[in-house]
Amino acid sequence: MNIILLGPPGAGKGTQSAGLVERHGMRQLSTGDMLRAAVKAGTPVGMRAKEVMERGELVSDEIVSDLIDAELASMAPATGAIFDGYPRTAAQADALDAILARNGRTLDHVIELEVNEDALVERITGRFSCGNCGALYHETANPPKVDGVCDICGSTEFKRRPDDNEETVRMRMQEYRAKTAPILPGYEARGIVTRVDGMAAIDTVAEEVDAILKG
Ligand code: ADP
Ligand code: ADP
Ligand code: ZN
Repeated sequence: MNIILLGPPGAGKGTQSAGLVERHGMRQLSTGDMLRAAVKAGTPVGMRAKEVMERGELVSDEIVSDLIDAELASMAPATGAIFDGYPRTAAQADALDAILARNGRTLDHVIELEVNEDALVERITGRFSCGNCGALYHETANPPKVDGVCDICGSTEFKRRPDDNEETVRMRMQEYRAKTAPILPGYEARGIVTRVDGMAAIDTVAEEVDAILKG
């Protein structure tokens, strides 16, 4: 099973990916996470990506497609892939088709998380994650069960992304509308797109996603 989770920043792609990994043993391929790891490690890719990400603009198609290519090549063929935050442009969508074909995989579903834009700023500015295991939280919608303690690993260290501020979010939304939303019609023509109400509670969204996977 190979699926794309598509939606603007804050739609819930990372949250739903984590659920799918836990429930179905799939692998999450998040170009955002891969780029942040590269920035942290100070690799050449990270050095090129850092400022672009801080502005909320898109990193080059070649960089992200190479990251996805390398990750997919390392996966066992039976392990399902969740593409989270990739593809984001028409060129990336074409690259993904080629990468999947080379790996003997086919795209089963494109799941579009629909959310209203006003809610996105609230989601992004309230987002934080565990500094140890990366579990995702939200100040009001999804706080840890015990205040200040990660549900998953017990860590008390949390972090926020430098690009999770209102100004950058507006730029990221603009990039989404201009460059990412236009790739949907191509997938629609293949009959593989399903829309999910991303404004529903996290568990409700997860149930709908599972229903799509069951077909
Ligand atoms: P994305 O990966 O699409 O940018 P995230 O999964 O990181 O989005 O979610 C953004 C923020 O919104 C996080 O703080 C997360 O806890 C919260 N969130 C995710 N899904 C929902 C939901 N269905 N309802 C309310 N808040 C949510
Ligand atoms: P969000 O979860 O808020 O949608 P991501 O973590 O997916 O954000 O991405 C953070 C930033 O990393 C983006 O604003 C962009 O600069 C860069 N990035 C991530 N994925 C891609 C991609 N597929 N193409 C280009 N840039 C990307
Ligand atoms: Zn944790």
